Amino acid sequence: MNTRFLCDRHLGKLAKWLRILGYDTLWNPADMSQDFLRRGGRDGRIALTRKRDLEGVGLDRLIVVKADRVDEQIGEILDKLALTPDPKDRLTLCLRCNATLEAVVKEGMEGAVPAHVYQNNTCFRRCPICGRIYWRGTHTRNVEEFLRRHIPTHPP
Ligand SMILES: [Zn+2]
Repeated sequence: MNTRFLCDRHLGKLAKWLRILGYDTLWNPADMSQDFLRRGGRDGRIALTRKRDLEGVGLDRLIVVKADRVDEQIGEILDKLALTPDPKDRLTLCLRCNATLEAVVKEGMEGAVPAHVYQNNTCFRRCPICGRIYWRGTHTRNVEEFLRRHIPTHPP
């Protein structure tokens, strides 16, 4: 089974990047309780938190994230868990909902995305929950640029 995560309130940016990399990641901006983090652990998720006082409270599957910048945080987690994200998994989850994106036929996208996006892309995906549309062109380039720049130990 793929590694899945749960992020505390302070790690919204990290949650988004883990989703970009294809890791199923829950993030609840409202709930910071130990119970939320425990529930994630029971669910087979690795809980990520910024709360240093949670270190050593007996929660297994909990990582206290030390780095401040999101790029360093990603590196920290990938290193700690010896994970190498599969490029095939990139941008398969909605960044907002964490839902698995569905492939949609190009024809149906005319008018739903900007004209130049429609013209320059063949592959579109849609979130079944929020309806947001993703296309590989722009998003993938941005992601790969970010990874190249910030995570040299994990080249795309
Ligand atoms: Zn969505």
